[in-house]
Amino acid sequence: MHEQTLRSVVVLGSTGSIGTQALDVIAADPGGFTVSGLAAGGGKVDLLARQAAEFGVEAVAVADASAVPALKEALAAHGAHPTVLAGHEGVAEVAAWPCDTVLNGITGALGLTSTLVALESGRTLALANKESLIIGGPLVKRLAKPGQILPVDSEHSALQQCLWAAGPDGYDPAEVKQLVVTASGGPFRGMKRAEMADVTPAMALAHPTWSMGPAITINSATLVNKGLEVIEAHLLFDLGFDRIEVVVHPQSIIHSMVEYVDGSTIAQASPPDMRLPIALALGHPRRIPGAARPIDWTKAHTWTFEPLDDEAFPAVALARHVGGAGGTAPAVYNAANEACLDAFMRGDLPFLAIVDTVAQIVEEHDVTPAGSVDEVLAADSWARARAAELTTGQSR
Ligand code: MG
Repeated sequence: MHEQTLRSVVVLGSTGSIGTQALDVIAADPGGFTVSGLAAGGGKVDLLARQAAEFGVEAVAVADASAVPALKEALAAHGAHPTVLAGHEGVAEVAAWPCDTVLNGITGALGLTSTLVALESGRTLALANKESLIIGGPLVKRLAKPGQILPVDSEHSALQQCLWAAGPDGYDPAEVKQLVVTASGGPFRGMKRAEMADVTPAMALAHPTWSMGPAITINSATLVNKGLEVIEAHLLFDLGFDRIEVVVHPQSIIHSMVEYVDGSTIAQASPPDMRLPIALALGHPRRIPGAARPIDWTKAHTWTFEPLDDEAFPAVALARHVGGAGGTAPAVYNAANEACLDAFMRGDLPFLAIVDTVAQIVEEHDVTPAGSVDEVLAADSWARARAAELTTGQSR
């Protein structure tokens, strides 16, 4: 067993789905961690203040500076007196706060600065904000040292564990035949394209196996999330897109697999619960006892697998195309999708038009190398503006 040493953690996006579960994991492992800083959007100041008081943090930041007075009041009410920081600069300051591990649980492209700051500051980065890796690919790869990023995405945590199984010295890429990323298939699995024409936000928000934030839940319904995860796997594990397969596994128990060249496939299995990948990324190389409920092997189980229907769900093939193009193309795919997803939630865009519109914007984009944050953010802004033009007046 690995020796337990007290590890200090900063949690970004602490009031969101990943952040609250991370603090659950930390609270349930006394003697394992201290929490030195928290950052959140600012919509839930009372929860943020309670978290700050419970963990005795040194610094708290809210991205929305107008939430500061309410936050200060809530902190005082809970008897907590951390340094209070505001705006995106404040969030970045917390991302650089002295600690061992930064958990980036911010949602969407906004998380890029925090990812870069945490890597630059030499922290271990527990990365739940996959968008920052995907949109800032070349920038993040240039900064990250081997092993500095630990994925907090169930599929990539699974792939990491299957690759660790290759041996203590790491894996030989030449011995890996392919990565097999599993997908639940989302709420519309088995439907043909025409059957999804009248899908509403409420229908898309009803995920069959995972309980997650709203954006990732809709992205799971369109399979854009799986597309993003294919790009994420490519960037994390340095394998070409022709060696990353996607297979639909509706039970969400096998979280991904690695097929080796000798025909052996190693799989990681556990009930769907983000606390496991969170605990692994925070505790590595230590495994935290009881972090998540295991599979009950006294009961009967049936696990099934089926190929992905690329015609009904073109988002994964589009992601391969975009990932292969590299540079700013993934940033455009992600930003166009974030904007189209918002338009769908507002009722301004039909469900099927989300990925169709993303595909159109990706085709229109002139890819550049993504050599700087400004270049990535310019591509991101362009894609959002183009999505706004294309989704205006599209309501059904
Ligand atoms: Mg995932």
